[in-house]
Amino acid sequence: MERPQSDTGLIRAIETASPELRDLRDLARKMLLSRDPKEICRLLGDSIPRLLKAPRAAVFLADPASGALPPPSDADAALHPDKEIVDFAFQGGRPPVLPNSAGTLLIVFPLRVQNQRVGVVSVDITGVAEEVLRANLDPVDALLDPGAVALVNVQTMHRSVGESAILSNILDSIPNGIVTIDNDRRITRLNRNAMAMLELAPDCVGSAYQEVFPPKITEALDDLIRETAEMGFAMEKVISHKLAQGSELHFALSMSVLCDENYSPLGMIVVFRDMTATRELDRLRRLDTMKSEFVANVSHELKTPLTSIKAYTEALLDMVEEEQMKQFLKVIDEESDRLLFLINDLLNVSRIQSGKMKMHFELCDPRQAVTEVLNISKVQSAMHQIHLELAEDVPAMMVDLDKMKEVMINLLSNAIKYSPNGGGVWVRMRREEANLRIEVQDEGMGIPRENLPKLFQAFYRVDSSLTSEIPGTGLGLVIVKAIVEHHGGRIWLDSEPGKGTTFFILIPVRREAPQQPAGFAE
Ligand code: ADP
Repeated sequence: MERPQSDTGLIRAIETASPELRDLRDLARKMLLSRDPKEICRLLGDSIPRLLKAPRAAVFLADPASGALPPPSDADAALHPDKEIVDFAFQGGRPPVLPNSAGTLLIVFPLRVQNQRVGVVSVDITGVAEEVLRANLDPVDALLDPGAVALVNVQTMHRSVGESAILSNILDSIPNGIVTIDNDRRITRLNRNAMAMLELAPDCVGSAYQEVFPPKITEALDDLIRETAEMGFAMEKVISHKLAQGSELHFALSMSVLCDENYSPLGMIVVFRDMTATRELDRLRRLDTMKSEFVANVSHELKTPLTSIKAYTEALLDMVEEEQMKQFLKVIDEESDRLLFLINDLLNVSRIQSGKMKMHFELCDPRQAVTEVLNISKVQSAMHQIHLELAEDVPAMMVDLDKMKEVMINLLSNAIKYSPNGGGVWVRMRREEANLRIEVQDEGMGIPRENLPKLFQAFYRVDSSLTSEIPGTGLGLVIVKAIVEHHGGRIWLDSEPGKGTTFFILIPVRREAPQQPAGFAE
């Protein structure tokens, strides 16, 4: 560390003088070399009363920001100078001799460095003869400046150590690796993440980065420095680095110039952004898209032969007379229907997942979506009574009618499927402020509360003895939700086991096709 500021002229003069003055020189030197403010205060607090033949003294340090002394405590009340005495000590030429509010006769010496109030030495001079005081003021004076300078130096040092610790903490909390290098390409600082990513120890500080960084990274850094020097900036570089334990990291390496407060370049800041997780996410996303495309392709390929199986079965059903043969063909026909529904659901879900669901909006009466699906076998049941409550004030609006029919088929067929003992099913449609409100209510088995959060997940089916006999794929509600959301709406439900379930849908009434994804009208 640089030698602290000191009154060297005075010390040199003292060195050539008497043993007492040499003692003063030693004291001043001790204070200036000390790193402990308490020790400096002790040296001042012991030596000054000794020089003045006074019974006791205390050093009070001022608050660095305000210059004020701390308030008196019980222990130091006798020596604590009042504010007026302190102000006078800092203004006046000679140290003031005054009683404080505790009644002690004090002489107060200011400790200052230039205009900064560092503190005061307050000495109890009760019983000290005035001539003794006068005779010893000069040696006391000789200690005040070194004492004050020593205290300021220690405070400054502590502050900068504290600031450096804070800076290290900040740097360590950043998820990127950060390395600073000086103009000679030596490492000046690096955070914990940089050490982990590059497998370096803290003692690499001071080494040239070429000596400690892996060759690939050194090369990238050389390029970045060259580009920054030539163009003033450099593009981020992505490189991979194999760690000793075998795993591979992918970094994005970027660099900026590190300047001092006068904008003179001090070196470079290098940032290592860990891209490993992002890459893994990209890979998973790609896999997911591949999976959706695969499902879409397979479903499409399955649909073609199945459609002809169904067509030929229907043709045969018309031709065949024999009853048993008819029965067999009916089974084939029904099973083909089930397979077709499943394939259509799979196709729809894969389209949703790959973001390829196409919407064909048209201005129409949304009540059509209900009335036109009532003759479909999936929503017909002798055991159930379907009640339509379609309000008169339902407006014409922009909807994809085919997709809305799909919504109604799914909700109605669920209402029927999951009410195996029959009962009523209500379909309601009405205007609610700027939205269309749809409700499908049944009196079926209901859904336990704990199953509700997963209901709109693909392939999720409530697993119970009641549902195990009911055919399904767990895809219907995923499709319904996606269609509703493509209309800018939302869907939710209310259900009580044993009592029934109601699905609610709210879709904004629009006369223009919504921009996707569309917002929700309040
Ligand atoms: P699927 O009916 O083909 O199984 P859905 O996605 O339509 O698939 O429904 C998911 C699950 O939600 C169903 O398996 C069923 O357990 C439950 N569910 C849906 N609608 C109802 C309803 N109206 N009443 C009771 N449970 C229902």
